[in-house]
This record gives sequence, C-alpha cells and structure tokens, in this order.
Amino acid sequence: MGYTVRFAPSPTGYLHVGGARTAIFNWLLARQSQGKFLLRIEDTDLQRSTPQSVQQILNSLRWLGLDWDDEVFYQSKNRSRHVEVANHLLKKGKAYRCFCSKEELEEKRRKFEALKLNQRYDGACRRLSPDEVQERLERKQPFAIRFKVPQGQIVFDDLVHGRMEVDNNTLDDFIIVRSDGTPVYQLAVVVDDHDMSVNLVLRGDDHLPNTNKQILIYRAMNWQPPQFAHVPLILGPDKNRLSKRHGATSVEEFKERGILPEALFNYLCLLGWSPGTDQEIFSRAELIREFKVKRINKTAAVFDEQKLLWM
Ligand code: GLU
Repeated sequence: MGYTVRFAPSPTGYLHVGGARTAIFNWLLARQSQGKFLLRIEDTDLQRSTPQSVQQILNSLRWLGLDWDDEVFYQSKNRSRHVEVANHLLKKGKAYRCFCSKEELEEKRRKFEALKLNQRYDGACRRLSPDEVQERLERKQPFAIRFKVPQGQIVFDDLVHGRMEVDNNTLDDFIIVRSDGTPVYQLAVVVDDHDMSVNLVLRGDDHLPNTNKQILIYRAMNWQPPQFAHVPLILGPDKNRLSKRHGATSVEEFKERGILPEALFNYLCLLGWSPGTDQEIFSRAELIREFKVKRINKTAAVFDEQKLLWM
C-alpha cells in the first residue's frame, strides 16, 4: 500500500534541520511506496505566521530536492470546515459549549495547582442543562467548544516508540474552538489529515501528547486514525533541544555556509536512523530503497556540525 504522508510546518521562521529531517523521512516513504508526499502549511496562528517564512520553507525544501504532490495546502483556508466538524461533534453530544470566562478558568487552574493536581478544568459546563445553555445563548454569552473526553483508554502502536497507552482520566475536556471562533491545532490537524487521506503521520515526538487527543477526535467522528511514527528530537551537544544558541540550525544557514544539499540530505537521514550497516554515504536512490521506519532510533540524536562539514 502506498503511504500518503504530509509535512505540516508552521511558517514562523526558517526551516529548522529537525523539520527538514521530518520532511525527508516522509518524502522517502512516499517515494519508496509510490505514495504521496503532501505539503500543508499550518498558518492558523495569524500573529506568528508570515508569507516570507512560507517562501523560505518552500525554497529550502526545493533546495533539498524534495518535491511534493498536489498543490500546497494552506490550513487557514480550511477554517470553515474545521468549525463544521466541531459543530457536528456538538450536535452529536461529543462536545459542549463552555461559557467559563478567562477569570473563572484561571481561578479553577489555580485551585488545581494548589492541590498539586494535573487537572486544569473541572468540566463545569459539561453539566449545564439544555435550559441553562439556552439561557446563556440568549444572553449572547461568548463560548468556546470543548471536546467531551469519554471514559476509557487510548491505545495505539507507534511505529517508532511501540505501544502507547493512556488512561482518558488523565485528560481534561479540551477546547477545540476558541471563544473567538478559531479552531485549535488539535482539531484542524485531524480534519485536514482525514480529508487529505493521510494514512501515516510521521512527525517529531514532541507531538506524542497531542496524538492522544487527536485519536479521541478521530474516534468521535468515526474516522479511521492514520498510523503514527514519532521521531525523537535533534539535540545540541549539551543534550538540550537543538536551538539557535547552539549555532546554525536552519537549512538556509547551512546553504549559506556552502554545504551541498546532497550532504545535508544524507547527514539528516543518518541522524536518528540507522541503515544497519557501516555505510555512511548514500545516493538518493539508495536512501529511497533502504529507508525503514523500523530502523528509526527511539532515543534523541545529537547534531554534530563537524561531521556534517566533513561530509
Ligand atoms: N505544525 C506543526 C509543527 O510545526 C506540526 C503538526 C503535525 O505534524 O501534526 O510543529
């Protein structure tokens, strides 16, 4: 079966090497399985997303030789579809309107914190009667839409980390549409992945906690969730997440330093993925043939700039 995968960057800066590696792994899987590699720009954060960043990301992907299938998909254009799904969940009783004000939510959060509980919201609006809801709507009281976390467990087999199990009790009812009417990432990503027929989501393992919530939304919609593969992050020499204070972190910076795209491509493939042999230099055709999700390491990889410079 061909993989339909996607790379879904938020356009808030240059393409980080971690993002580039995620894009490369997805691209390799699509090309090796004669599937599809889709590009979705997650530009819903209007304050932080910029058109310049979109262009920079597209340029960096092209420079690395990554081509995508279909038109670039802009998440912000799909907002009405996200809200439509939220309203469907509302109608089916799988979500509810939350009329709590910012101050009330802050107060609840403080109380839970004082009790050293992880919970942040007590589900107060879940218990409102239809009349109470109606009365608030008539008063034009603003509301957010919250997902009603059901009893049970979330279990899935991550292709990198293995079986993941979480008790639903550990999750609060979470917001899917803010009180200003904007859908949140958790909802948008599920709707778009479903609508784009994505059957494997490969992304950084900082997204693992989000996956639990996303699986709940899939289930509530009676949609088949994709497979998941969460790739460990790239670290700097001090074992902290690779960031600007470690030096160059973006594809653009390495390009400016004269690194060849093939060298960066090859280096990023071997960072966190092991071919199972001593071979270090691969042609692109070899990488397409050899790459296997099963051989992605479970532990984070350290970025070694010297090694890249010598490639
Ligand atoms: N836009 C998200 C990010 O840049 C990625 C979302 C995803 O892959 O699900 O972190």
